[in-house]
Amino acid sequence: MLRLYNALSRQKEEFKPLETGKVKIYVCGPTVYDHCHLGHGRGYVAMDIIRRYLEYSGYEVRFIMNYTDVGHLVDNAEVGEDKIQLKSKREKVDPMEIVEIYIQSAKEDFQALNIKPANFFPRPTQYIPQMIRFIESLIEKGFAYEKNGSVYFSVEKFPKYGKLSGKKPEELLSGARVEVNPDKKNPLDFALWIKAPKEHLLKWKSPWSEEGYPGWHIECSAMSCDLLGEDTFDIHGGGNENAFPHNENEIAQSEAFLGKPMANYWTLWNMVNVDNKKMGKSLGNFTTIKDALEQYSGNVIRLWIISAHYRSVINYSEKSLIQAENNLNKIATWLEGLKNNRKTTFSEKINLAPYRENFKKAMDDDFNTPIALSNLFELINETNRKPINQTEAQAILNLWEDWNKVFGLVIEKKEEPVPLEVTELFNERRIARDNKDYITSDRLRELINRHGYDVEDTPEGQILRKIK
Ligand SMILES: [Zn+2]
Repeated sequence: MLRLYNALSRQKEEFKPLETGKVKIYVCGPTVYDHCHLGHGRGYVAMDIIRRYLEYSGYEVRFIMNYTDVGHLVDNAEVGEDKIQLKSKREKVDPMEIVEIYIQSAKEDFQALNIKPANFFPRPTQYIPQMIRFIESLIEKGFAYEKNGSVYFSVEKFPKYGKLSGKKPEELLSGARVEVNPDKKNPLDFALWIKAPKEHLLKWKSPWSEEGYPGWHIECSAMSCDLLGEDTFDIHGGGNENAFPHNENEIAQSEAFLGKPMANYWTLWNMVNVDNKKMGKSLGNFTTIKDALEQYSGNVIRLWIISAHYRSVINYSEKSLIQAENNLNKIATWLEGLKNNRKTTFSEKINLAPYRENFKKAMDDDFNTPIALSNLFELINETNRKPINQTEAQAILNLWEDWNKVFGLVIEKKEEPVPLEVTELFNERRIARDNKDYITSDRLRELINRHGYDVEDTPEGQILRKIK
């Protein structure tokens, strides 16, 4: 039985899909004005694991993740500059070109991390009519009002406001961060549609103003409704730093519109620290997925991410990534050994049943990948200790293939074999050096370099290395 942690109830609950055998998931995607950072990578790998495990468990999954291409303003504010617009001015290119560049970048990153593509990646600029209809309906139902060309959601009309983040309206009101906008009936009301100032680039005609643009939050409500049906869906995913106000406002809008819950389960992943410090653009430790990929392979990064539970903070550091690299190599060596397993006259039986059970038990317990991985490493250790025959080796390989549908690691050979030509040059050079013929030995080193290898002369002898 699968149990998952529901951020709404703050406890683990038995997973019951709305429709037998099917699961509908919506995930808040990135705002495409910059390269995705490690926090995105962590979150989307977490959701990928959840999706893969549901598919592994026999569910048919419909998975939607948006690319926010309008309405997300600097500092998550309601007035000011759109993040994409700001970037387009800085780079002197059209806003939609910025969007294309960073969607492409995100796709490359997702592929490097082996994240399965969503069934659909909606963009808000393609859902303007749906958003307008959604807002019209909220006005009709008495949850929203128009003022001076903008439309606001009336928080007072939605008594459950704050149920996800645990923030109570009265506490929020006394908080210092509430901005004063004379058009709002209540300072906590938030914008659904914003009348555009003249200089605003991304704007559309609406029933309320000649030129305006959607608020950031309405986008996810309108798109999830359009793509998952005007009904409750199963799982909503997002980063816990966006629980308030973004997810909270999504809930208010969708539940006012539907008259029932937006999603049954809210899955919020935790953040990434860099060298034990909070990651941030102003803090100088901002790390994109592409920065990390310059140092480590996508598989190492993926293994590092899934080595922690998605609800704990993970730390990006040289130590933790090298640990992941070593673990990945350990898996690769083990697989290599199983594939090249020689027949032994004496073979010990490995009982795979407990390993099978432990994997399922770990994953059924809120997708506990660190426990599932430690179960794998126990199996690796047992296999390495015992002599096994071909049949045993194949059974273990099959088990790995099965689990890896969920882990999603692409394990290649640890080290490519050195080409024969390079080995010959290496041997010739060793003889030249033994004869103190340094001119020939230098010439041979150059030839070795051309093949992408280098020789290091150490007191213990010469070592051949692949140039990285
Ligand atoms: Zn969202």
